Amino acid sequence: MKKALTHLKLEQANLAKRQKLDDLAAEYMQVTQAYINWLIDREIREPDKYAAVPEEDLPTPLSDRWQRCAWMQACGIVRSWYSNERENRPVLRNICLQANTNVVKLEWPDKPSTFDLWLKISTLDKGHPVLIPLTLYDRAREAITQFPKLCSGVTLNKRDGDWYATLVVEKRGRKPKLKQVVGVDIGLINIASTSIGQQYGQISEPLRRRVELATAKRRHKQKLNACLKRKGKPTLDLTDQRAEAFARNEIGQALNRLIADLPPGAAAAVERLTVKDMRFKSRQMNRWLKAGQLGYTRDKLKFKLDERGIRYRSVQPAYSSQECSHCGFVSPMNRRTQADFDCLWCGYKANADENAAANLAKRFDDEALNTLPFRDVGTELAIRFMRRLPDARSASAGLELQPIIWLPRGKVVVAIDEPPPTVNQPG
Ligand SMILES: [Zn+2]
Repeated sequence: MKKALTHLKLEQANLAKRQKLDDLAAEYMQVTQAYINWLIDREIREPDKYAAVPEEDLPTPLSDRWQRCAWMQACGIVRSWYSNERENRPVLRNICLQANTNVVKLEWPDKPSTFDLWLKISTLDKGHPVLIPLTLYDRAREAITQFPKLCSGVTLNKRDGDWYATLVVEKRGRKPKLKQVVGVDIGLINIASTSIGQQYGQISEPLRRRVELATAKRRHKQKLNACLKRKGKPTLDLTDQRAEAFARNEIGQALNRLIADLPPGAAAAVERLTVKDMRFKSRQMNRWLKAGQLGYTRDKLKFKLDERGIRYRSVQPAYSSQECSHCGFVSPMNRRTQADFDCLWCGYKANADENAAANLAKRFDDEALNTLPFRDVGTELAIRFMRRLPDARSASAGLELQPIIWLPRGKVVVAIDEPPPTVNQPG
């Protein structure tokens, strides 16, 4: 059972917090309007609110999670606009943010306070949400003690200079204990692989043919566009909707199977992929699909996990495909083919995607690694490996040790005959 607490006035927010909300709202409304225009320009009458957000066309400082909210709101508006056969394009005038629990949370104060609870709202300033104290009216206070869990719907709106929130709450379920973490590697050979040894969505023969056809078509269109451009005529749209829809259908099915196979109570560690990482990754692959499909896969996976209430975290992706999940040795040479992982140090052999997924699972609680910038991860992993060197050596017992460590990117080559004596006491 659910209850709605409507129009809670956020009157205890100080000026600085209001300013942060105003900045967020300005960007959010602009982005939502841009999504609406983007959809109507393309005459997408029944937009898919779970589809990939067109983030490359419409760059914004909004977080991925806020972008998802804006996209869902825009999809709803466009859908009803088309179904009501309206003429004038919808223009957003009132400030209204349809948020969900990914961006707004409830927190209870540790000690008795002059207010009832905190509303924690993520803002444009990443990692710095605003905490707004909320005092409830009597009926709402009663409702929230019985229904202390926030449901998906949270609406924030501003009227006559004041901010209001509407919350939908429900009874708290049992909090499942975290039993296991399963790493999920998103790829292009397999749509996804897990650390429990499963692969999903091997690129099928019909899909491969379709993508090849689409690539040929695209090349043809590009040539034509070059011609049209020279003549100053409008160019053709390069996206192939049908091939894309076909690919997305396969992705959706693969992810459903993946989620069905997750052990009960397990959490998922998902790669934190930026658009740049995805472009890099798709260049390395066979280019069956464009980088955009990786973003779609990532968003869809997160969405499906959210939907089923499965806990997940986005973890550091750097070097997850080059690191040995057994001994921690990092080298591009560990992965001499796309499919196989073969550790140069300890000899561990595995399916390459499964090894990457195992590394992601280990990073679930690794705050230090998850907060490092990409460029520092290689060094950190090399240092950790050196610290564990005696273990790594025993893990390789019976195998011939490689005398050379290739530090990531091949910049530094260290020859080691014996581990240096200080290896156990770094610094
Ligand atoms: Zn190894």
